[in-house]
Amino acid sequence: MVDLYSDPMTREQPSPVAVITGASSGIGAATAKALAQAGFRVVLGARRIDRLASVAAEIGDAAHVVPLDVTDAESIASFAAQATALGPIEILVANAGGALGADPVVAGDDDQWRTMWETNVLGVVRTVRSFLPALEAGGNGRIVVLGSVAGHQVYPGGGGYSSAKHAVAAVTDTLRIELLGKPIRVTEIAPGAVQTEFALVRLGDQAKADAVYAGLTPLVADDIADAICWAVTRPAHVAIARIDLFPRAQAGARDYHREL
Ligand code: NAP
Repeated sequence: MVDLYSDPMTREQPSPVAVITGASSGIGAATAKALAQAGFRVVLGARRIDRLASVAAEIGDAAHVVPLDVTDAESIASFAAQATALGPIEILVANAGGALGADPVVAGDDDQWRTMWETNVLGVVRTVRSFLPALEAGGNGRIVVLGSVAGHQVYPGGGGYSSAKHAVAAVTDTLRIELLGKPIRVTEIAPGAVQTEFALVRLGDQAKADAVYAGLTPLVADDIADAICWAVTRPAHVAIARIDLFPRAQAGARDYHREL
């Protein structure tokens, strides 16, 4: 990883701040570690404070833990106030999200759909809104939003999650246009299968979660963190609009090669 902040001209300045939502596990935790390694101070937000504290302990002094529930507007406002108090914000990784259930549309559970839309869509929208002034003031803002292959394709049993991630993609594309002329770049990261706690949270059962990855080598959280770090460390005139990442054994939302 290139340390962009070790240049002697800038070494005396406080490191810029990167904010990562959903940093208590999976992609968010890996991204917080990678960005800290790249020289950023990192603000870690999520609901499980004990898990955030474990991630922060691995990172050291560069990490700041702040409680966050992205379904709660007041929690986001408090999170943003505490993060922006640390100094100029350069990067927001709006990663908090996930899926609940895998029922067909006709059998879907309203509460699960509501939570998916509140978390993935409104959570991202409210978080971005809260950090826009700080990102603009810093003069070199990068917003990274965790979309999904499910935000661009659909699959049976994925209606609730896929509709939410389609909305995430639409919001992200809209922001990119609306922020033209401001010093802010907007990137969507759209992974296929990444082995994290995602499938366990979704299906509520470890055996079912393991079956999601049976017979193939999935991506891991570090693969996504690596892509995010690459995207946010391009020169200031280079905007990475979207990165689609699959395991080698995946070619779309429902196309897998499994060796069972
Ligand atoms: P994960 O290990 O389950 O992590 C999800 C993170 O989101 C956790 O840190 C969780 O923290 C946080 N979160 C969930 N609801 C939240 C809320 N209301 N407020 C604050 N934080 C919340 O799953 P992951 O794979 O790393 O998922 C990260 C992102 O990648 C998600 O947006 C997911 O949709 C996306 N994605 C994942 C995959 C995949 O295959 N894994 C593929 C494509 C896209 P707390 O529970 O502690 O709050």
